[in-house]
Amino acid sequence: MNKIKHIRRKFLKLLGMTFISSIVLPYNLLLAITKKIINPNLSDEQKKIMLEESTERAYTSPLNNENRKGFFHCANCGAKLFSSEAKFDSGTGWPSFSEALPGAFKTKIDYSYGMKRIEYHCANCGVHHGHVFDDGPKSTQKRFCNNGLCLFFKPAD
Ligand SMILES: [Zn+2]
Repeated sequence: MNKIKHIRRKFLKLLGMTFISSIVLPYNLLLAITKKIINPNLSDEQKKIMLEESTERAYTSPLNNENRKGFFHCANCGAKLFSSEAKFDSGTGWPSFSEALPGAFKTKIDYSYGMKRIEYHCANCGVHHGHVFDDGPKSTQKRFCNNGLCLFFKPAD
């Protein structure tokens, strides 16, 4: 009698665990992909970078030569990400910044192409923007290497 009770309890416990994991697992998967397309006018190339972590060709962004005072925003959701004060010419061919505005990004370790790089995503909409390296200017040592296609510039009034 006791043995049956024991087996029954074990079975119920297992059932409970399966039930919980069937809820928790898809929830975790959802958390891993929380990128939301907000701007319906994004080009295929922009979507490829933002959603699949692709990279635009170097020296193709007009923002490389943007030197006015103002702010750089997320091309998907419009969030303010960088001040023109932090922009510098890194010579890499991508818009580069020594620091982001507080809370603008979330980072993730990216192991693709046999390298360990820190990838960053817009904290508001979750789309990929670029990678951050430790070889930036003296003030911060950081170099945010951003795809120009993920940004738009709004000059200060
Ligand atoms: Zn965004």
